Amino acid sequence: MNDCIFCKIAEGKIPSEFVYEDGQLVVFRDIYPKAPVHLLMIPRQHVAGLNDLQPEHDNLMVHMLRTLPEVARRAGLEDGYRTIINTGRGGGQEIFHLHMHILGGGQLPGF
Ligand code: AMP
Ligand code: ZN
Repeated sequence: MNDCIFCKIAEGKIPSEFVYEDGQLVVFRDIYPKAPVHLLMIPRQHVAGLNDLQPEHDNLMVHMLRTLPEVARRAGLEDGYRTIINTGRGGGQEIFHLHMHILGGGQLPGF
């Protein structure tokens, strides 16, 4: 996926400071933060979104969800955080490389 901006970030082709990284995922700060702490967790592997998940991604998805609380804790979000996955244009997805938003560090609006 040569034209995918998040693939380029994961591959280090676009400079970005990783808050966390391991063999399967990277976490970095959202460039337009919607909360005092706004992180994006993405798989290194290109998956466009939730609707594109296959059984082969099961271990990856579990790894992301199981890693997320530790990433949030290290980012200072001991009090809690919000996770959002936008899916498809109708769900507000703008970048079609699966990502989990992690938001917190202040009063979040209700919805
Ligand atoms: P979504 O609407 O769920 O697809 O969210 C995409 C998010 O990516 C938005 O919150 C953008 O602010 C963020 N974003 C776009 N480009 C970059 C970038 N180069 N580095 C970090 N975050 C980005
Ligand atoms: Zn990608």
